[in-house]
Amino acid sequence: MLAETDVVVVGGGLAGLAAARRLHRAGVPWRLLEAGGRLGGRVATDAVDGYLLDRGFQVLNTAYPRLGTLLDTDRLDLGHFTSGVLVRKGDDLIRLVNPLREPTGGPRTALAGIGSLLDRLRFAALATGSATLPTGRLLAAPETTTEEALRSAGLSDAIIEELLRPFLSGVLIDRELETSSHVLAMVLRSFARGRIGLPAEGMAALPRAIADPLPADLIELDTPVAEVLPGRVRTQAGDIRCRAVVVAVDPPAAATLLPALPAVRMHSYTTYYHSSQEAPLDEPILLVDGDRREIVANTVVISRAAPTYAPAGRHLVATSVVGPSAPPEPAVRAELARLYGRSTADWTHLTTVSIPDALPAAPPPQGRLRKPVALGEGLFVAGDHRDSPSIQGALASGWRTAGAVLVELRTG
Ligand SMILES: Cc1cc2nc3c(=O)[nH]c(=O)nc-3n(C[C@H](O)[C@H](O)[C@H](O)COP(=O)(O)OP(=O)(O)OC[C@H]3O[C@@H](n4cnc5c(N)ncnc54)[C@H](O)[C@@H]3O)c2cc1C
Repeated sequence: MLAETDVVVVGGGLAGLAAARRLHRAGVPWRLLEAGGRLGGRVATDAVDGYLLDRGFQVLNTAYPRLGTLLDTDRLDLGHFTSGVLVRKGDDLIRLVNPLREPTGGPRTALAGIGSLLDRLRFAALATGSATLPTGRLLAAPETTTEEALRSAGLSDAIIEELLRPFLSGVLIDRELETSSHVLAMVLRSFARGRIGLPAEGMAALPRAIADPLPADLIELDTPVAEVLPGRVRTQAGDIRCRAVVVAVDPPAAATLLPALPAVRMHSYTTYYHSSQEAPLDEPILLVDGDRREIVANTVVISRAAPTYAPAGRHLVATSVVGPSAPPEPAVRAELARLYGRSTADWTHLTTVSIPDALPAAPPPQGRLRKPVALGEGLFVAGDHRDSPSIQGALASGWRTAGAVLVELRTG
């Protein structure tokens, strides 16, 4: 028997959920089909022996513009990280402050020991410009790679290699810094304007909160879509006839369901979770490697930000590595001893989470971070690969695509 609805949303990650929320608000009949047994896609949390282990370390930035439309972030009970970043350089731990929060560099001589005074002023100018200029102006600027943008801002090799490459490679999941300068501008903007944090119940609380207002009977889990055709979606359980389809699957799956889309390369990411009795740092701040060893992208004592991530009396440390070849755990543990400046011999390795398809590569050109979403004949595409590779990009894309569907349903 042929089921019918107006819009089928394929995929229950953040983009699919944001699309469903907008369709639901508009009163349009819709259904969402998700291949897996849970919602959230790449945002997932496993509860193991009293620890909350996100499927790859990731954080929520409170400045993401689309968040406010979809949820009240207070409900997530966020545990916040300290603004800025620590850099291990030889025997020193050097602090990068957020230029908008401590415009003078703060009392701790921001970045002393990394780059020159001119570097510090130029980086502060870049971050401040990204935070304060209208988005339209940032996206109208000539688009280059992140590396070219940093170099043409006049930043020295020292500050790029000892601070910015280590820091940004973890954020963009891109060690080569080939990501579009427009993505970089949006990343700097949200870091400068917002705070980063983790929900008390793990990152999976984010998609749960977004899905919360949606009627459960319109969402079908364990329902992989095999084929998408104009006016029809094919599943093992049969076909659904519809007026529009929103394909909000991950980029590799999108390339299968919509072969006309250009293929998207994916960046890989691995997170090592360790538990320790003593926290190796007193504050919840990201620590990166300024010694150019390029083994670990970043490490952080998660339980300092969100104590619910570890059982009482223990701490949880998340350490992430960018790229397809993740080193064995003992090599990472040795790096951690160097980075934190203390023994890690009594730490417990909880697990290693490898995500081969973590984030779509986003080299220039990125179409002002708004690639076309209407493919014709009632087919639409959404996901982080259509806007920017981030939580904000996925949410914005789902919302924007649902808007395009609504226009077509009204006028078509
Ligand atoms: C390890 C890691 C760290 C990250 N760190 C950050 C961070 O710190 N900050 C940040 O902003 N972003 C971060 N991101 C990026 C962010 O999580 C993603 O950009 C976002 O979650 C993508 O959402 P999406 O809806 O576009 O795709 P997905 O989450 O991939 O959702 C797609 C959904 O489609 C489903 N699907 C696939 N095929 C089918 C099919 N045939 N039929 C039905 N359903 C199907 C999948 O099961 C999945 O649920 C990180 C991502 C990873 C993996």
